[in-house]
Amino acid sequence: MINVKSKSELEKMRKAGIITGNALHYGGQSIKVGMSTYELDKIIHDYIVKNGAKPTFLGYGGFPASACISINNEVIHGIPSKKKIIRDGDVVSIDVGAYIDGFTGDSAYTFPVGKVAEETLELLKVTNESLYKGIEQAVVGNRIGDVSHAVEEYVTSYGYGIVREYTGHGVGRKLHESPEVPNFGKAGHGPRLVAGMTFAIEPMINAVGDGVKVLPDGWTVLTKSGSPSAHFEHTVAVTPDGPVLLTKPTII
Ligand code: MG
Ligand code: MG
Repeated sequence: MINVKSKSELEKMRKAGIITGNALHYGGQSIKVGMSTYELDKIIHDYIVKNGAKPTFLGYGGFPASACISINNEVIHGIPSKKKIIRDGDVVSIDVGAYIDGFTGDSAYTFPVGKVAEETLELLKVTNESLYKGIEQAVVGNRIGDVSHAVEEYVTSYGYGIVREYTGHGVGRKLHESPEVPNFGKAGHGPRLVAGMTFAIEPMINAVGDGVKVLPDGWTVLTKSGSPSAHFEHTVAVTPDGPVLLTKPTII
């Protein structure tokens, strides 16, 4: 069942989304070479709590931290660790959610650190652009397949690999709700979009190949090829006035 949100529920989701988006970008601005991903997670955690919200990911399915932090060939679900040190030339994906007044946001961004290889910067740019290609399709009367297809078409035109095992998803009172929002699919197929639907669109794109594997820690997803990967995500509301970015930050 797809939960359709009322106007007042969307306002609450925007409140959760602002804290989510701001925590994400505050985290991004706080990245320093030599910092551990544990320290970065702590900064993000404290930001969320200071703003009166709860880190949605902390304890979700047993996840031990407030943000997923995935570096270079790690695609998603990286576990923050004192042993993982951020280095010059890395790309650092932060994925985070803040829960307040009964609702959560979900947003991710891949930050380049220092001098990053040109081709990796291009991967980041195209992945972020593909997110907006999907968002453009989040309009009343379209279908989920229109969102999926727009992301797929854009990304494949650059020859990158689309991760298939993980998808975007409905989001609201729970972090993961119906429907699934894959990053590939057929235009004109899937659930019809109506005003009040809210979902996370989140392309996870590998520089080389679409294959992924999970580390023995049970969480960290890596590219099979060892190539870098990028992840950009917004929580979006379908409204009569078009798509609204619920996780758009207000601090940048
Ligand atoms: Mg996320
Ligand atoms: Mg998500």
